Amino acid sequence: MNNSGGFKLRLVIGAVMALMALFSYYSKTQENPLTGEKQQIGITPEEEMAMGMQSAPQMAEEYGGLYPDQEVQKYVKGVGNKLVTAFSREMQNSGVDVPYRFDFHVLNDRRTVNAFALPGGQVFITEGLLGRLKTEDQLAGVLGHEIGHVVHRHSAEQMAQSEFYQGLAGAATAASGDMGTGQIANYVAQVRLMKFGRNDELESDEFGVRNMISARYDPNALIDVMQILAEASGGRSQDEFMSTHPSPDNRIAKIKEHIARYRY
Ligand SMILES: [Zn+2]
Repeated sequence: MNNSGGFKLRLVIGAVMALMALFSYYSKTQENPLTGEKQQIGITPEEEMAMGMQSAPQMAEEYGGLYPDQEVQKYVKGVGNKLVTAFSREMQNSGVDVPYRFDFHVLNDRRTVNAFALPGGQVFITEGLLGRLKTEDQLAGVLGHEIGHVVHRHSAEQMAQSEFYQGLAGAATAASGDMGTGQIANYVAQVRLMKFGRNDELESDEFGVRNMISARYDPNALIDVMQILAEASGGRSQDEFMSTHPSPDNRIAKIKEHIARYRY
């Protein structure tokens, strides 16, 4: 086989691999009964919960373990449960059961100003962020946003996307017969994931606003949270909250739109 024949063969193999990645990705399409959106996800809510439960202790360990004051833990669980109860009631009214079991934990880390959610409902806030919040409404803003990541199944979506882009990167490597191109495709995949991340943050903000309103919290407190996080990061991106969104101003403007739309 001459050189150009080899090149064509590589292209065909690459194209087939890319199609297989695409087919596998779209065969995972399912409707999220909690949000009505069509998503590409390869795992069940039960698997999400199992993954979250399994990684929760290790996650906590990385942030100094659980904050030792049980009263503080109880307070945060109480606010989280109020939000979950309001959301579950809303869903039940439209005949949908929420499959997730939520739990809320304070992490014993004063230096990190952050909050995050594992798939399936394990939600964490650091002491560093909790200590900067001044009202229960602001705490509800943080937790409502994190519940949004769970309900919108963002982690499970990211997993399916990263499998897809790995498949594409493999296809590019096969087509080019050159590692360099494959690495570039890999880099592009990462940048794409960042972009999805931004949309995820905006979706969670919107969910947070709606959830706060239905649990009778003041949704304007989510704007306070954005400002508190912006101050804490000193303009640098270091928090889950701040790392992927377009810009704080843009995000606050969108939150204001949601408040105007959902409030009455
Ligand atoms: Zn977030």
